[in-house]
Amino acid sequence: MPSRRKVSLRIAVTAGALLLSAFHLSAAGPRPDNAPIPNSVQAWVGARIIDGTGKPAIENATLVIRDGHIEAVGKRVKVPAGAERIDGTGKTIIPGLINAHGHLNNENQLGVYLRDGITTILSLGGDKEFALREFCAKAPPGSAPRLYVAGPIQDSSAIPGAVAVTTPEQARKSVDELIRNKPDIIKVRVDDFRGARQKMSPEVYGAVIDEAHKHGFRTAAHIVFLDDAKGVLRAGVDYIAHSVRDREVDQDFIDLMKQRHASYSPTLTRELAVFTYSETPSFFSDPFFLKEADPAEIAQMRDPKRQDTMKTDPAAQWYKEHMAVAMRNLKILSDAGINIAMGTDSGGGPGRFQGYFEHLELEYETKAGLTPMQALVSATSGAAKAINISTEVGTLEKGKLADFLVLTANPLDDIRNTRAIESVWVGGVRVPARN
Ligand SMILES: [Zn+2]
Repeated sequence: MPSRRKVSLRIAVTAGALLLSAFHLSAAGPRPDNAPIPNSVQAWVGARIIDGTGKPAIENATLVIRDGHIEAVGKRVKVPAGAERIDGTGKTIIPGLINAHGHLNNENQLGVYLRDGITTILSLGGDKEFALREFCAKAPPGSAPRLYVAGPIQDSSAIPGAVAVTTPEQARKSVDELIRNKPDIIKVRVDDFRGARQKMSPEVYGAVIDEAHKHGFRTAAHIVFLDDAKGVLRAGVDYIAHSVRDREVDQDFIDLMKQRHASYSPTLTRELAVFTYSETPSFFSDPFFLKEADPAEIAQMRDPKRQDTMKTDPAAQWYKEHMAVAMRNLKILSDAGINIAMGTDSGGGPGRFQGYFEHLELEYETKAGLTPMQALVSATSGAAKAINISTEVGTLEKGKLADFLVLTANPLDDIRNTRAIESVWVGGVRVPARN
């Protein structure tokens, strides 16, 4: 993370570049990719549109964008006079993908997510999140994803990214302090890390959730076990941010999820990242992966010594076995009508590659039995619902922000086609290529 001065300098430089672009525009010069166009109207014509609601794709559709918002979408939409007409024949347009459980650690990672089509992120815990959220809010359109944050996690010990709360009184005080920064959600972690440390008690997480709700803030929980997931739901939690991994979910859990209108994020690739590097994974040769992945992190994961350690690491073996449980639970909950929110925990540990893991997560959701359409919904309207931002993003519907991806292949044929990205748009502004 560069210093604050460097960040503000960068903002100033980008703002300058933006002014320059506006000048070029008025001088009728060529329009740079990322310059917002005041009062502009754009019409994509002839594309297949998957709107993110779960409704069937619309073939040969028109998408009209005005001032960064969607004005109209459908088969019988007229192209407004003066609109810039863009031929979408053979393309598939989907909403910008939303990661409902990631982690942002520095601003260089913002572009990685964005260029890979992740236009909105809920960063669920970290020390620098509030500064990064401010950075994104001030960034010129098309240069940063929409960022929502939890801030420091309420935990039983102060591991990085967390604050320790061990009594209900401490918990309430900690939440009162946290809400001064207006987090988008407040997160508790209920996990003994396989016996390595104390797990937060129901009295303490109950106080966190209650204090948050008292002040109008929503809550998310990190859990591993079914009993803890039920516990946080009984305490009123709004969002289960990982899979239940110890055993199969039951009707009691489904009923609690429904009573709470709670969302569920499977984060299957989080488990994958714990055990998959006991060898070199096949995705290390995927050009889409290599395009953005940090070479130093790849080298670290390729290290034969590390791979050997992972082969016998008890935690890695536990998560390997229990990923199957997580996948079964995803299918059960999806069938039961629970809102599934795509999340990866990318950026939250070594080998959890931001940007790529969101696409890999979609692939694993379909391996768990979801249809490509259900997987897409989890990464669009489902994720938006979990973050409580459905009125703004998550679907390609009239009035929503124009965040979308143009794909050269149909993800309904094969979910891996979400990687066939031709362009990424945020608020109607094209995301520039990596420089
Ligand atoms: Zn996480």
